[in-house]
Amino acid sequence: MFGFGKKNNTALNEKGLFQENALSETALNNLMVGVFILDKTGSIILSNFAGNQMIGFESKDTKNKNYLNIIKITDANGTLVEASINPIARNITEGGKIVTDNYFLASRNNVLRPIGLVIKEIKDTADQSKGTIVILRDLTREKFLDQQRSDFISTASHEMRTPVAAIEGYLALALNEKVTNIDEKARNYLEKAHASAERLGKLFQDLLNSARAEDGRLQNNPEVIDVAKFLESLSSNMKFMAEKKGLNFEFLINASQDKSSEQYLVNVDKDRLGEVINNLYENANKYTESGKIVIGLTGNPKVVQLRVQDTGDGIPADAIPHLFEKFYRADNSSTRQIGGTGLGLYLAKEIVKLYDGRIWVESEVGKGSTFYINLPRVNRS
Ligand code: ADP
Repeated sequence: MFGFGKKNNTALNEKGLFQENALSETALNNLMVGVFILDKTGSIILSNFAGNQMIGFESKDTKNKNYLNIIKITDANGTLVEASINPIARNITEGGKIVTDNYFLASRNNVLRPIGLVIKEIKDTADQSKGTIVILRDLTREKFLDQQRSDFISTASHEMRTPVAAIEGYLALALNEKVTNIDEKARNYLEKAHASAERLGKLFQDLLNSARAEDGRLQNNPEVIDVAKFLESLSSNMKFMAEKKGLNFEFLINASQDKSSEQYLVNVDKDRLGEVINNLYENANKYTESGKIVIGLTGNPKVVQLRVQDTGDGIPADAIPHLFEKFYRADNSSTRQIGGTGLGLYLAKEIVKLYDGRIWVESEVGKGSTFYINLPRVNRS
């Protein structure tokens, strides 16, 4: 594994085959990603062509040198990240595998580029740690295209929201019995037009929010709130929505494991958390034909856990890993009939990420789904 450095790329052995090391070296140098192999102390044993280009050094200048001032991992401002956070340093001490797109690389001449990093401990056949492999992907073009796309979506959805809101408003006026006098047939048409305008408005709002989430422009003014009280303030509306559809509604605040405090404090922007909960709740309502919806709240000293549980269609196992992706909608009979943008869960995940939380789902087709959110708990004595 450590022997790629020999200069024999084109050498043939007696059987007329390329030597294995030479082949590996050629393959490595033709990769579009940067590869560095470090020993257990963090010295660079091997680097490939793309890697050297990214850091701005030649192999001969980096060989057997410590990686720290050569593979310079920084934040978006070009400030070196401290050792306790540096993912390469962490991997050298902790082993395992780290995959992250959160950092930048500063080259020898301080050219900054966003990078995707995969860092993995190398073990020998006896499972002994031998070093670390660092794979770097230049994300400059990807991020640039992302930014262009999200700027376009932002501007377009912003511009389109205004006329759609006007159409929605006038249709609502036309449907208002105090304002107009229309026959049943016209009412039926106008109601359909109003519902569509409403859906379009929601699509633009979701698009705008998802573009904002991508470039960190979502409004976010976190404050410490008690989730129990917050949920209570939403519960009468939730109950109303469920009952309108003939579903039962249960609201469970479970303090049993947690006698020390009855407050479930978290540091979040109320409006953002409200959007996440509303989205999960609306989905539970949309995708449940009969049975009940449960809103649950529990926790331990470190975490506040919220759940939205339904007895609906459930989600096929192969759809679950994609559920939080942008525009993803599971393909089943109910999604074909029920309108949606496929952006709600994506946005929910982006918002939960803002607060270092986690969102996931457990679901079984035919039995129902439970969406969980864990948020770091704020402890106040
Ligand atoms: P949508 O606007 O389509 O509801 P979401 O991002 O909120 O978009 O959800 C993505 C997909 O996840 C939905 O299209 C649906 O297939 C599935 N889904 C979400 N919540 C539920 C649920 N409670 N029960 C069943 N399927 C769900």
